[in-house]
Amino acid sequence: MARCRLCRNEGQRTPAEIYLPAHRLPLCREHFLVWFERYLERTIKAFRMFSRKEKILVAVSGGKDSLTLWQALTSLGYEADGLFIYLGIEEDSFSLLSRRAVEAMAERLSRPLHIVDMKSELGFTIPDLKKKTRKYCSLCGTVKRYYLNLLAKRLGYKVVATGHNLDDEASSLLGNLLNWNLKYLAKKYPVLPEEHGFVRKVKPLCRFTAREIRTYAEIRKLPYLSESCPLSEDATRPFYADIMDELEEKAPGTKLRFYLDYLRKALPLFAERKEEFLERELLTCETCGEPAVSSPCLVCRLKEEFAGAGP
Ligand SMILES: [Zn+2]
Ligand SMILES: [Zn+2]
Repeated sequence: MARCRLCRNEGQRTPAEIYLPAHRLPLCREHFLVWFERYLERTIKAFRMFSRKEKILVAVSGGKDSLTLWQALTSLGYEADGLFIYLGIEEDSFSLLSRRAVEAMAERLSRPLHIVDMKSELGFTIPDLKKKTRKYCSLCGTVKRYYLNLLAKRLGYKVVATGHNLDDEASSLLGNLLNWNLKYLAKKYPVLPEEHGFVRKVKPLCRFTAREIRTYAEIRKLPYLSESCPLSEDATRPFYADIMDELEEKAPGTKLRFYLDYLRKALPLFAERKEEFLERELLTCETCGEPAVSSPCLVCRLKEEFAGAGP
């Protein structure tokens, strides 16, 4: 049995309970938490995401990623508050249970939590969208991004942090590479600066695998909801994620290398000609004043549609 590397540095001989193949690091449970938070701190610094003087709004869904992010940022001494959007998914009480998980977390951390109700703000919920269109899953993403940005500004935050992990980033990178989606490849970076009416967006967990995050959430006993959205039918992402998992299995460290080398070596080349790859210019929606690719923007059109449809 391997011994914990960090215990060894302190002159102890504790057996390791966790092995991180990508980092070739055997650790005891306690030192896993130390490693996790140190690595998070290094990620935040390496990408210049934010400082301790800034207030951060963490988009929390109730899942392991966003709750881990909220916990680890707070443990590191960052001022991180939560934002939960109640999407109105009543199937399996999903939204209700998610909300409870997030509330339990806020209490545990003694941090402010903002809860907003999509129905009362926008006039429709995700199940309403599902009744209208088969593209509701990608629309849900678009609406959430729009709304998150708007709420951050309204609530006075300059930085929004989301729980996207290395598995998300590496598998979407693979998908976008296979389709040569240049527009996406030119701007895929874990920090998007404040510009054109967008607040700064950061992905502090971009160097952590889903497995590492789950381990952290379990050791810390975070009250996360393990069920995924019951409405999700998106078959493409798991496909690329499965391929990445297989590659990782055969050659540990592949996900991290694939993603970080892309950021270091390829992104600067794509970014140089970013303007050429954009399909549509960014405008300002004349109805809501938010940045958009059309005016009225997609969300304003949806609002209009649902308002017209009656209750
Ligand atoms: Zn140890
Ligand atoms: Zn609009």
